[in-house]
Amino acid sequence: MSPRARSVRTEIVAGFALLIASFGGVAGYSLVQQQRAVASLRLANEAYLRLTLRIGEAHNTQAQVDAFLERLLDEPDRANVRTWLAAARRTRRVVIQAGASTARAAQPRDLEDRALLRAAAADLDGVDAIWVRDEGLFDELFQALATGERARALDLQRRLYAREVGTEATLASLARAFQRRVRALSDQAERQQTRSLELTLLAVAVACALGLGTTLNARRALQPLAALRDRARAVARGNLAPAPVVARPDEIGELAGEFERMVHAVAARDADLRAANLEIQQAEQHLEQLVASLRSGVMVVHPDGTVATANPSAERLHAERDTRTSNHEHLVGVPYRETLFGRDERLLKAVRAVSQEGAPQAFENIPLGQRTFDVVVVPFVERGEREDRRGALVVADDVTLREQARQRLLQAERLAAIGRMAAHVTHEVRNPLSSMGLNAEMLSDEVQALGDEAREASRLVRAIQREIDRLTHITEEYLRVARLPRPRLEREDLGALVSEAVRFVTPELERSGVEVSLQVPAAAGSVMVDEAQLRQALLNLLRNGREALEGARSVPRRLVVRVGARDRGLEVSVADNGPGIAPEAREHLFELFFTTKDRGTGLGLPLTREIVVAHGGTLRAEDAPPEDGGGARFVLWLPAAEEAPCDRTDEAPTLLDP
Ligand code: ADP
Repeated sequence: MSPRARSVRTEIVAGFALLIASFGGVAGYSLVQQQRAVASLRLANEAYLRLTLRIGEAHNTQAQVDAFLERLLDEPDRANVRTWLAAARRTRRVVIQAGASTARAAQPRDLEDRALLRAAAADLDGVDAIWVRDEGLFDELFQALATGERARALDLQRRLYAREVGTEATLASLARAFQRRVRALSDQAERQQTRSLELTLLAVAVACALGLGTTLNARRALQPLAALRDRARAVARGNLAPAPVVARPDEIGELAGEFERMVHAVAARDADLRAANLEIQQAEQHLEQLVASLRSGVMVVHPDGTVATANPSAERLHAERDTRTSNHEHLVGVPYRETLFGRDERLLKAVRAVSQEGAPQAFENIPLGQRTFDVVVVPFVERGEREDRRGALVVADDVTLREQARQRLLQAERLAAIGRMAAHVTHEVRNPLSSMGLNAEMLSDEVQALGDEAREASRLVRAIQREIDRLTHITEEYLRVARLPRPRLEREDLGALVSEAVRFVTPELERSGVEVSLQVPAAAGSVMVDEAQLRQALLNLLRNGREALEGARSVPRRLVVRVGARDRGLEVSVADNGPGIAPEAREHLFELFFTTKDRGTGLGLPLTREIVVAHGGTLRAEDAPPEDGGGARFVLWLPAAEEAPCDRTDEAPTLLDP
């Protein structure tokens, strides 16, 4: 610590100490003076005044003695006078001895008083001694009177007078001395009183001056505290800019200096905190952007089961939910079980377990709504002021496309094997079937030649021929699927292609009582297609429509075929007013060999989709809108010629290709 020049505390304490000391000193001195004055007065009162009183009494008794002495010679009743005289002499001795005792008993401090009283006691003893000695003379006087010696009695009387005058003078002198001394003591006491008063007044004046000085000094010393207080208030309001320091060589100066150093340190720490905060904010923003841009759905679930945060992907995926899920717009605050991802019981349990100290869990291929997800549930700890909250972080990857591709690959592999087998079997069946057909035809000719007798045989042969035709048709379809070649793409006018396909099937549609409404815009646009394959695909859709209407009660039976532009491509829709797609069939429509018809093969739609996919397009089945009859609608989309790849012949082989 640096040596301090001055200390405010010391200054103030010293000022007050001086004040108290001066007060104490003056009060003490005044007290001493007072006591002296009191002692002087007491001395005057108890010693000198009492002595004066005794001397006065002695003087009076002596006057009586003198009076009796004077009357004695002429007094007829001398015995009575003698008695009074004796009593007066005794009395004055008692008085004078009491006076001597008083003079001796007094113990004044003052030497002068001591000497005076000692001398007075001696004088009084002396007077008493004279009176003792005079007793003999009185006895002689009474004897002379008794014997009638008048001359001697007169002589004795004169001698006694003379002695009385002497003692009287001593007593008078003592009385005067005492009176002088009493006056002197009174004067002294008065002077002391006056001095004491003066001193008290002086002390009050000095104390006032000292108090004023101390107060002013304290005020001057403490003045910078107000500036310091204002500075502290400004700092509390956030003003951390440097300010001039109060330059004082005392504690307040030191305090101001320390305070400014502290403000400087706080300002530095504040700046550090701001910088750190900014970094954290930036990091949070980056993280938020990162999470927001993720294609995966990310959610944080509180331990109480509500969603704490959800990224846009999670909200989008949830928004695509079907009607079984709750209809919350945003996920924050929504119970997890009401979200798309809370629909799966395994995920619900995992979130609960992970929130309660459980280990991370991962799930694959969880079907939720129309999609499939890979989901990871890991602990998520939120740091709180008092305690940490442990929740769960749910990351859901939409693997629908991957799963579909995997399924399709699986199916393709399966189909490729089946296709090869079917092709082989079909190939083996085709030759015997064609020779059977040929033979059946020849047999039919033979039977017809027999005329009416072989009518029954002719009917049976026709039945055999029909079945052979059907089998031939099936084998052809199988071979078509199995041998679906790579498309040879050429630019074609889709409108013209669709119109021609419709025209081609119109006769068979008419036979089935189905009318077609063809809506093709003037310049629908071109697509890059293998004409034969696309025609096959369109014929499949048109025939399916016809077949759906064959058993239907709809009147009139109607197909609506539309061509239009959509999403940088062209769309062909084939809608019917038939019974629509059966709910149980909806999921399996495009599976190989799936059919709900007695004589169906389940090859039409898978083949059609393969053709469309091989052209870079899509095919979907949906309910037809009411204006189109409300039955089934198949929508085929192909990229416009400008958008399509030039040649898809190098693309992956179609599903049935070995
Ligand atoms: P198939 O015609 O041999 O049954 P497809 O693959 O062409 O084979 O059709 C599969 C199934 O799809 C049909 O059996 C039928 O149940 C359903 N389907 C196809 N087209 C329609 C349609 N227009 N209306 C209702 N159901 C249809």
